[in-house]
Amino acid sequence: MEIGHADKISELGAPSMWIEWGDLARKNNSCNLGSGFPNFPLHPDLREELVSAAENPVTCWYTRAQGHPKLIEEIIATYSPLVGREIQPTEAIVTIGAYQGIFWSFEAFVQAGDEVIVFDPMFDAYRLDCVLAGAKFVPVALKLESGSWVLEEELFKNSFNCNTKMIVVNTPHNPTGKVFTRKELEFISKLSKEYNCLILADEVYDRYVFDGHEHLSIASLPGMWERTITLCSAGKMFGVTGWRVGWAFGGANLIEKLFRICKCDTFGASTILQEALAGMLQRQRLCIPPKESYFQWASNIFVENYTKLQKAFTNANMPVIPAEGGFFMIVDCTKRRFKFQDSPEFQSSVETFDIKIAKGIVNKYKLSVLPLSLFYGSDSKSKLTSYLRVCFAKSPESVDKAVEIIESFE
Ligand code: PMP
Repeated sequence: MEIGHADKISELGAPSMWIEWGDLARKNNSCNLGSGFPNFPLHPDLREELVSAAENPVTCWYTRAQGHPKLIEEIIATYSPLVGREIQPTEAIVTIGAYQGIFWSFEAFVQAGDEVIVFDPMFDAYRLDCVLAGAKFVPVALKLESGSWVLEEELFKNSFNCNTKMIVVNTPHNPTGKVFTRKELEFISKLSKEYNCLILADEVYDRYVFDGHEHLSIASLPGMWERTITLCSAGKMFGVTGWRVGWAFGGANLIEKLFRICKCDTFGASTILQEALAGMLQRQRLCIPPKESYFQWASNIFVENYTKLQKAFTNANMPVIPAEGGFFMIVDCTKRRFKFQDSPEFQSSVETFDIKIAKGIVNKYKLSVLPLSLFYGSDSKSKLTSYLRVCFAKSPESVDKAVEIIESFE
């Protein structure tokens, strides 16, 4: 007899897009610009921190469940100036990647009857966690207009009602590369106060913003600290996504609720990695020019990668929507014709154009990129289906290989 499962997991569906597209990339042994992680070897500074952490016996043991004290101290020292207040130890908590911060926030704050507003397209974890929490998911499309992703104020405003509990604000944004402006964040903050909602500020790409744009934490705006949970990812910051460490900070009233979920979940993250990351954060804080910080070093690589890929895609008749920050660029394939489009298989497939193109590129050219349509939480007419998401936060070798492949497109 089959063992029944909890009703709530029915809605979570079959394998995630990451598993399906990751398998496709691996099967083709492809150059992978699909997944959003830097693939360089461990940075020498991080290696030193890890070795020194390993030499300290306490790092083999459980540490404080809310976060290793040394890491919490460094989080406080790093982010207090950015949010314009002295963050207290009760206002920060360590998570197993930002993924866990998202999950805890949904578990702790939303339930059946609540609504959660998220800009569309989006990182898919928000939708899944919202479904699991039993709340209603309300995607609000960002409009692509003259090469920018625009928050349409009327549309956004009209998506609120008395059930709206939370707004997810991801800046710099995955997948579009949008960096929300001060004016947009002020507008969001005004509505969050009017409707008394929580902001989940996913800022995992905060260190990677292009010249001419500025990252602003919504938590730093007047009156927002008590209603904002800000999420960060050591994996994205330092190219160690496999370490699975992140952190959240915000008003003590909010962080205390996350800790209640932590107590029924993992009860803390890896001590040794937290110790090493505390050292790495301290190095960045104390880094004095001409010594280059890790962020400067990685940003220089990303900007060079971006420039190379932009040129290659543009020459291949696939213009790039300019990214303002983050790890991703969006490539327009509306006008591109590949030879594989003539195949009967391509012609007869009912999948969206971007999915067929991304599959064609990985199967024929061994280059993995992702269809933008996979990132939409809604099937409305605002869903774009002829764009690809390309990760430029990769090693220069991977990007050079990708450029070679793009130049060979027929
Ligand atoms: N938020 C966003 C916007 C992301 O893109 C990702 C990872 N792709 C995460 C959160 C999860 O981060 P982590 O790897 O630290 O769990």
